[in-house]
Amino acid sequence: MQTAMNLILLGPPGAGKGTQAKEIEARRGLVQLSTGDMLRSAAAAGTDVGRRAKALMDKGQLVPDEVVIEIIANRIDQADCATGFVLDGFPRTLPQAAALDDMLRSAKKQLHAVIELSVDPKRLVERIAGRYCCAKCGAGYHERFKRPEVAGVCDACGSAAFSRRADDTEEAVANRLMAHYKSTAPLTGYYFCKGYLRAVDGMAPIAEVAKEIEKVLDDVP
Ligand code: ADP
Ligand code: AMP
Repeated sequence: MQTAMNLILLGPPGAGKGTQAKEIEARRGLVQLSTGDMLRSAAAAGTDVGRRAKALMDKGQLVPDEVVIEIIANRIDQADCATGFVLDGFPRTLPQAAALDDMLRSAKKQLHAVIELSVDPKRLVERIAGRYCCAKCGAGYHERFKRPEVAGVCDACGSAAFSRRADDTEEAVANRLMAHYKSTAPLTGYYFCKGYLRAVDGMAPIAEVAKEIEKVLDDVP
């Protein structure tokens, strides 16, 4: 069984990438690298990049390739990524995938698997509309599918403050889904041809999806 692994989670907005990346992080100690989270932190910190990214994110549009490529290039070189990482939300376009190939090659790192969460697009709006997170630690919840154990209290940090994403509006969600099917869906073929793609049923309950992912990871050569 592989211990240090570099993984990609693929799937449209609401497929469960962030949820499963956190599960993998907790079980296997891989670092979750979410470009969405990194851009939201930059926006909250009011940096130049963050401000420009936020204007696009709020509309549900993709941030330019060069911006996210630079963020990831700086991040995967950091010491905590040496024992493996799980990319969540990156790459999202073919040029980003090609840039990732170059980064991994020059860092002498390997990609181990690309896990695609297969979902019914009709159910994604329900997933996204019910999503909220802890305002303090970012732990993710869902009004129906993942409630805190004690109502109104974050399981992870005990905070009672929750928030919703600024881009989980009807208009932004429609744009994000379109961006996914136009720009990100071709990555399935890209990674299939390279032999990395593993599909997992993303419509199963969260714990079952996690179990299926574990089976896939146990089989990674
Ligand atoms: P993504 O990172 O792919 O956009 P999230 O992980 O944020 O998706 O999941 C979107 C919402 O759906 C969250 O509220 C999450 O709690 C919920 N969710 C994730 N996976 C499942 C699942 N397998 N079944 C039901 N709800 C899920
Ligand atoms: P996410 O948290 O993955 O749903 O991403 C939220 C938003 O951040 C997206 O709708 C994009 O505007 C932006 N974003 C995140 N990752 C990328 C990426 N790899 N390429 C372009 N834009 C991204």
